[in-house]
Amino acid sequence: MIIVMEQGATRSQVDYVVNLIREMGLREHIIVGAERTVVGVIGDDRQKDKDKLENVPGVEKVIPVLAPYKMASREVKKERTIVPLGGRLGGSAGGKKLALIAGPCSVEDRSKLLEIAHAVKESGATGLRGGAFKPRTSPYAFQGLGEKGLEILAEAREQTGLAVVTEVMSIDQVQLVARYADVLQVGARNMQNYNLLLAVGEQSKPVLLKRGLSATLEEFLLAAEYVISRGNGHVILCERGIRTFETYCRNTLPLAVVPEAHRISHLPIIVDPSQGTGHAHLVPDMCRAAVACGADGLLIECHADPAHALTDGAQSITPGVLQSLTGSLRRIAAAVDRVI
Ligand code: PEP
Ligand code: MN
Repeated sequence: MIIVMEQGATRSQVDYVVNLIREMGLREHIIVGAERTVVGVIGDDRQKDKDKLENVPGVEKVIPVLAPYKMASREVKKERTIVPLGGRLGGSAGGKKLALIAGPCSVEDRSKLLEIAHAVKESGATGLRGGAFKPRTSPYAFQGLGEKGLEILAEAREQTGLAVVTEVMSIDQVQLVARYADVLQVGARNMQNYNLLLAVGEQSKPVLLKRGLSATLEEFLLAAEYVISRGNGHVILCERGIRTFETYCRNTLPLAVVPEAHRISHLPIIVDPSQGTGHAHLVPDMCRAAVACGADGLLIECHADPAHALTDGAQSITPGVLQSLTGSLRRIAAAVDRVI
């Protein structure tokens, strides 16, 4: 951090600040300018309580230099993290090959899920999504099939080789979901459920972490830091849109997060244009835009009969649309030096 002293701050005020810095186990580098004095702090101050310095007499402001997250940051790890998805198809997120994950919002029944899984596989995807435990706004809405849904997903993996990506909503579900899933999805509403983040951080399965509805990028990366801090470095970030004043779509999908996350973090980031827009007609274009701006993959809701889907039919594309979409995605991927 850098501490900017007020104009006219006295020598003893600067000395007091220096003492506080040393008490924190850090060192100072004092720059005396014509207008004011600036104290640069040497050492890792991320764990230190910087706020207390702001109220010290003579201090004008305290400017953090290091990102508050550490293991998720590029300052600590320069090379990109590649997260294997599991399944038999060898998919991963973060390498040259994109992670294409598609499937229904929820697992509804066995035959429908198996049918969609085969279509997803045909389209060239390596992952199958589908919620068995669903975070619904209303307690009266379909809540998912629970363990039965997980069994169906596992059967789909057996038949297709696709990696199963499914949500875990609470700590008591972690063991169960981890037995069936290849990737543990932590939903947007749980991005700041710190105990859940720690619990999935103790698992050996990768974690797909969705951005919270009103989370800043910094809060998003700090959530990833919780998972990594428990030893699980296989975190895939997922931008799924945020709440804004805009009403033409369900959420606003900020794609600039993708190159920015790549600049400050080594973690892969994929995009979910289904939750991100709420409308199936917007999904293909936003998929193409996401790949063009460097996303490491896509999470797409796909349903054979969206009009009768139990959840999120309006934002689910059909297998036919998915098939033609991947054709154009391949061309865009090639233009940005990626493959599907
Ligand atoms: C989902 O993927 O179906 C879902 C509920 O996502 P989110 O947590 O991003 O709303
Ligand atoms: Mn959904």
